[in-house]
Amino acid sequence: MEKADIKSWNQKELGEFLISLGEKPFRAKQIYPWLHVKHAETFEEMTDISKKLKEKLINTCKLTVLRQEDVQCSKIDGTRKYLFALPDGNMVESVWMHYRHGNSVCISSQAGCRMGCRFCASTLDGLVRNLTPAEMLDQVYRIQEDTGERVSHVVVMGTGEPLDNYENLLKFIRLISDENGMNISQRNLTVSTCGIVPAMYRLAEEKLQITLALSLHASSQEKRMELMPVAKKYDIQQVVEACKDYFAKTGRRITFEYSLVRGVNDRDGDAWQLGELIRGMNCHVNLIPVNPIKERNYLQPDSQVILNFKNKLEKNGINVTIRREMGRDIDGACGQLRKKFSERQGKA
Ligand code: SAH
Repeated sequence: MEKADIKSWNQKELGEFLISLGEKPFRAKQIYPWLHVKHAETFEEMTDISKKLKEKLINTCKLTVLRQEDVQCSKIDGTRKYLFALPDGNMVESVWMHYRHGNSVCISSQAGCRMGCRFCASTLDGLVRNLTPAEMLDQVYRIQEDTGERVSHVVVMGTGEPLDNYENLLKFIRLISDENGMNISQRNLTVSTCGIVPAMYRLAEEKLQITLALSLHASSQEKRMELMPVAKKYDIQQVVEACKDYFAKTGRRITFEYSLVRGVNDRDGDAWQLGELIRGMNCHVNLIPVNPIKERNYLQPDSQVILNFKNKLEKNGINVTIRREMGRDIDGACGQLRKKFSERQGKA
C-alpha cells in the first residue's frame, strides 16, 4: 500500500489520521510543528513522540524532504538559486532573494510545464508531473534551514503553471499561511499565472488574500498568441476580465507581468495599446527585460527603450516598475538550472 503523504495534511487531517491509527488526536499538536515549524527531516528526531508511535508513522507515512543537489550564489546581490531533487529523482529549482522588506523564495509548482511560452526554458521539455503540497512546502523549508533566515514572502513563479496544479496549490497556500506552521501572511504570497481563465475565477472565490500576477507579455491578442500558446484557448480580453473579477472579489490589486522582448513587444504602439487595455484597473505593471535563453533568439531591449516604455505607461496613469534583475551572474532565467542539469545527465 502506498504510504500517506503526512506533510501535505493540515493539522485536522493529521488528527483524523492519528485516530485511524488508534492514537489520541491531540498527538497532531505534537507532530505538526515537527513537520511545519522545526522542519524535521526524519521521524526519529521527533523526541517527544513515543517509540511505538514513531514506528507506526514510519510504517504508514512518507516524510517528503527534498535533497539539495546544487546551489549557486550571486556575488552581486546574494541571490541563491537551488536545485532540489524530489523523492522520485525529478529536479526542481527554487530561488532565494534578499530584499529590504524580507527574504523571498520563488518556488516551482510542477516538474516541467506544458504551457509552451516561447521565451521560457521551463517548458522546453514539456510537463513531467505536478508537485505535491509537501514538495512545494519543502522548497521553502529547506531554504530557510539552509540560510538560517526566516522566509517572509513566497512567490509561485518558478517552473510550472500553478493553476494547472490547482488542488495542490490551494493546499500549499493554506499550509504555508497556517498559523500553526510557517505562518506566512497570505498578503506576502504571490501566484503567477499565464492566464487559465476558469481557474482564475475559481481562485477569486477561495477567500484568500494572495496576490495574483498575470503574465500578459503582449497588448494584443495576435501578439500574445505568438508568445503564449495558452492565449489561443483564452483570449486577452477574457483574461483581463478575469483579472477585474479577481480584484472585485478579493480587493487585491493585480500585478501584470510584461517581459520586454526587443522588436517584438517593446514599441511605442505596444505601450499605448497596453495602456488602453488596462486603463482604470487597480493594477500594477512589472516590466521584465526578457532573460535570453539559448534555444531562442529573443533579446532584451536597450535600457532607453525600457525606460521609454515605462514612461508611456505612466503617462496613462499606470503604476509601473522595472523588475530589478536579481542574480544576474547566476543562471537567471526560469528553468535554466534544471535544464542544464538534465542536459549534463543526458550526456553522461
Ligand atoms: N506559469 C506561470 C508561472 C511561472 S513563469 C506564469 O506563466 O506566470 C514566471 C514568470 O516568468 C512569467 O511571467 C513568465 O512569463 C516569466 N518568464 C519565463 N521565462 C522568462 C524569460 N526567459 N525572461 C523573462 N521572463 C520569463
